[in-house]
Amino acid sequence: MTQASICTIGDEILIGQILDTNSSVIARTLEENGVMVTRMLSIGDDHDTIIDNLRNELEHNQIVISTGGLGPTKDDITKAALAELSGSKGYVMNEPQLEIVHRILKARGLDVLDINRAQALVPDTCEVIPNQKGTAPVMVFRFPEERFGHPATLYSLPGVPFEAIGALPDVVSDIKSHNPLSDIFHKCIMVSGMAESALSKKIEDWEDNLPSDMHLAYLPNQLTGVRLRLSIYGGNREEEEKRIDEEFAKLRPILGDMIYSYQDDTLQNALGSLFRGTGMTISAAESCTGGMIASLITSVPGASEYFLGSVTSYAIAVKQRVLDVHPDDIISYGVVSSEVAAAMADGVRKLTGSTYAVATTGLAGPGGDDRNPVGTVWIGLSGPNGTTTLTKVFKNDRKTNIERFSSAAIDALRLFVLNDLKH
Ligand code: ATP
Ligand code: MG
Repeated sequence: MTQASICTIGDEILIGQILDTNSSVIARTLEENGVMVTRMLSIGDDHDTIIDNLRNELEHNQIVISTGGLGPTKDDITKAALAELSGSKGYVMNEPQLEIVHRILKARGLDVLDINRAQALVPDTCEVIPNQKGTAPVMVFRFPEERFGHPATLYSLPGVPFEAIGALPDVVSDIKSHNPLSDIFHKCIMVSGMAESALSKKIEDWEDNLPSDMHLAYLPNQLTGVRLRLSIYGGNREEEEKRIDEEFAKLRPILGDMIYSYQDDTLQNALGSLFRGTGMTISAAESCTGGMIASLITSVPGASEYFLGSVTSYAIAVKQRVLDVHPDDIISYGVVSSEVAAAMADGVRKLTGSTYAVATTGLAGPGGDDRNPVGTVWIGLSGPNGTTTLTKVFKNDRKTNIERFSSAAIDALRLFVLNDLKH
């Protein structure tokens, strides 16, 4: 399999001033195209460091992609280092890139100075992929087999993310035309309500019995749950995707309704699918989630068909006055309790006249109360067949807890409605 290394160049990354986002975008793109990324590294703007590290990466990989250090400023020394690494005898003007430099500067109302023109000057050892979005072109250095023991190619991309990403399709098509890449086929399913570790325990046997050419990835996210992805390298798309479907189908008896979609999806969209075209409606009463449930539900196009609205009843007074939660319940059980979550769900359902309602009351942190640990949420569910509650405890920071509370509430409502539909 074709292997690649990604190298970001720039002191700014090493001192923590900027976050390296280029590497992850490049890695994802390569992976999707059947290139295996073996390593990522970040190095500073130092001539010898650049040469030593890139040489080392080229010794171990057929493809090396670097980003950064190509600008016109003094600290950008990558080009000179690449000239030396590739044994260049001089620089040549790349006319297509020079035209782009003129066009970009003219559009900005600037004169073309020598340092701008120098951006289109490249070592005579490289090929150029013009950079339509910026002044520094992508330089492609092809090293013959004798040099590193295998044919190797170094792609030097600009550092500015939209320029680097903008150049990626051309880089990928160059890689494809020079390397025997096998196609890669992916499919995924979405699983809710379980941490990655618990899920992997539950599906251990299934995983152990997967055909050896199938690769499984767990891709967890606090809002969407765990995305399980199966990939196969090579073969015929229709056949391979059918084989993947067959393996996923075996999970159905193990995970049941925890599988909420057989494609890349969100919980709020799966919830929407249950309501669309049925005439049934939803409302929400949110304390600790502060409106996030409403925000997630309404992020789905067409949610107006089934979502009536939500009450952000953060204060106890609003829970009582707007949602009709009884003060005695709050005194006896505490505001973060099953009883209050149930009363909030019933209250908002009555207030809006919706078919179903979901409510949250909890402690996102950092402080807890004397009855519940930090990260506790009570979820209330109210519907035509009754009211129920459940609780969860998450151990994250405030922001993540709020996200997990919200997605847990949406998922709980989804399962509650599914259960009604089955009976
Ligand atoms: P320029 O012509 O703008 O100087 P360049 O090719 O020299 O481009 P750098 O000087 O290394 O690239 O970086 C330019 C800017 O792009 C940086 O200030 C930074 O904001 C951003 N950048 C560089 N590398 C990365 C990276 N790996 N991830 C995210 N952003 C980056
Ligand atoms: Mg620069």
